[in-house]
Amino acid sequence: KNYTREDIVKLVEEEDVEFIRLQFTDMLGNLKNIAVTANQLNKALENRCVFDGSSIDGFAGIEESDMYLHPDLSTLEIFPWRPQQGKVARMICDIYRPDGTPFEGDPRLVLRRALREAQDMGYTFEVGPECEFFLFDTDENAMPTTQTHEQAGYFDLGPLDGGENARREIVMTLEDMGLIMEASHHEEAPAQHEIDFRYDEALTAADNIMTFKLAVRTIAKRHGLHATFMPKPKYGVNGSGMHINMSLHRNGRNIFEDQKDANGLSREAYYFIGGIMKHIKGMAAVTNQLVNSYKRLVPGYAAPVYIAWSTTNRSPLIRIPADRGGNTRIELRSPDSAANPYLTLAVCLKAGLDGIVNRIEPPESVDCNIYTMSDAERKARKIESLPGTLIEAVEELKKDSFILDVLGKHVAERYIAAKEKEWQRYRAQVSEWEIQEYLYRY
Ligand code: GLN
Ligand code: MG
Ligand code: MG
Ligand code: MG
Repeated sequence: KNYTREDIVKLVEEEDVEFIRLQFTDMLGNLKNIAVTANQLNKALENRCVFDGSSIDGFAGIEESDMYLHPDLSTLEIFPWRPQQGKVARMICDIYRPDGTPFEGDPRLVLRRALREAQDMGYTFEVGPECEFFLFDTDENAMPTTQTHEQAGYFDLGPLDGGENARREIVMTLEDMGLIMEASHHEEAPAQHEIDFRYDEALTAADNIMTFKLAVRTIAKRHGLHATFMPKPKYGVNGSGMHINMSLHRNGRNIFEDQKDANGLSREAYYFIGGIMKHIKGMAAVTNQLVNSYKRLVPGYAAPVYIAWSTTNRSPLIRIPADRGGNTRIELRSPDSAANPYLTLAVCLKAGLDGIVNRIEPPESVDCNIYTMSDAERKARKIESLPGTLIEAVEELKKDSFILDVLGKHVAERYIAAKEKEWQRYRAQVSEWEIQEYLYRY
């Protein structure tokens, strides 16, 4: 929506909006906000709202901590779950330094920078995410558990599907907030769900992912459930992914399609795949940012482990969904919804563009089940694996100067430091598995 400042003032007045939440996302993908009351609206619209960036992950040090919020007027939405009088609205903000320059620690800037490059090449980048999550029970203190009373599976419906009512309200709420909902269904694991909304230009898609997660959590809570986007909350069942469907458009045309090609794919599409496959190891610390992310990327749970692509089967990292024509797209299956969507889309786009610019040919597609291949077969076909742990992924990121550049020095340094720390904290823990396995025997 192309709101002017005047439109916003009018809307806030007419709709009886009492609070405006100025939102942004920190480096680790957490949504943050400052609420201002409606009488501060002009100040907000004149980009004069300041916050202390020193306590936000990945932002500034205390010596230069004042940051300015520049609301993106097109992102104004009213929260449907708030009361109808004294409503609450939000605007998503870009972050600026006091001297008026964009703050390089802002993940939205990282994505904007990548998008500018695509634009210079004449491309728009369209992204359709598929977000999976669990709806777990809460305990008597309203604390989240990993328990559920339901036993439903893939595509099941009520009364087996215990989250059906919550999911229905989530879908309606998001429609109220301007997202176009495409499909929603129960996923394979008990209490696991997927809701897909329509693809959009990448910056909007990233904003939508943040809005989506907020709405899912909020509505779930109202139903006494805890929504989690943790990548692998439970051993023995599937984890939750965030498959990313990507296409490039030029002059309104999807340039990934080519009817003359055997797979219906253009040269650009092949190169884009080639670029992603080249950089995927270095991207993993961004697309799969938690220690826990790597517990999802193991054989047997419909999540990718091996670096391969296919037009038909779903075991590889990259799949080309059957849709062609304007819907021709590349589906990257490794990201999970714990990832920072701005950083994730930035590295995906830039890796793909690197493929196009440098004409990186992808290896041959692998159209059989990779999980059932022997190590020797995989080796013969040169099929490599994704990083197996967060620290491996961080090491790969450090080696990929191209991906480091996409993040920019400010973010890259802080990101790597934060992830190394996270790994060190994890490494020092003694897990329940170790106790079970070793305490008695040794
Ligand atoms: N949950 C699986 C994953 O981790 C995907 C399963 C599916 O969408 N069929 O990616
Ligand atoms: Mg899906
Ligand atoms: Mg799914
Ligand atoms: Mg999918």
